[in-house]
Amino acid sequence: MDVKNCCRKDELGLVHVYTGNGKGKTTAALGLAFRAVGCGLKAIMIQFLKPSEEYGEQLAAKRFEGFEIVSMGLDHMCSDVTRSEDVRLAHEALDRLSEILSSGKYDLVIADEINVAMSWELLGPEEVIDVLDRRAPFTEVVLTGRGAPEKIEDYADLVTDMLLVKHPFDRGIPARRGVEF
Ligand code: ATP
Ligand code: MG
Repeated sequence: MDVKNCCRKDELGLVHVYTGNGKGKTTAALGLAFRAVGCGLKAIMIQFLKPSEEYGEQLAAKRFEGFEIVSMGLDHMCSDVTRSEDVRLAHEALDRLSEILSSGKYDLVIADEINVAMSWELLGPEEVIDVLDRRAPFTEVVLTGRGAPEKIEDYADLVTDMLLVKHPFDRGIPARRGVEF
């Protein structure tokens, strides 16, 4: 048996939601991609609201066969972002997600921070559900980000709420390269 390619792809096709205020949503999704790639699956992450291409995970993905990261959306650190531009870019990312999900070319599709886009009302949960409904069979999906709407949690098969117990940010330690980004 080929250990690397021993996955039963017909077992795939569920929807995960990683939400909540504690650290670990994006990194849990990346960990899943790491595992999937090891088993010969093809994975992709679309990053909503992350325009930079220098995040640690983006640099690492370039070294992996079978995993890619596409970054879209606006940087909310800059304050001159207009809402209409934000809404337009979120929809551009959703269109891209829709193409990817319906293509059947990927076994694992991660929509990173899409929950945030919905909680900011840049995207409606109904339009996201519509895109998910049209995914190719056997495509496993992960939606990450704080503030997942109830409709999305109801739709999902798996929901994890990261509980914030402590974060060093709260005692003044800013985001660290290689740990937070
Ligand atoms: P990670 O990417 O480390 O898994 P995350 O996806 O759960 O974190 P986000 O809500 O996307 O977290 O937060 C964006 C950034 O803020 C990340 O750099 C993350 O590490 C950091 N962060 C996460 N939780 C907290 C928190 N409770 N307080 C401050 N910063 C946080
Ligand atoms: Mg995140």
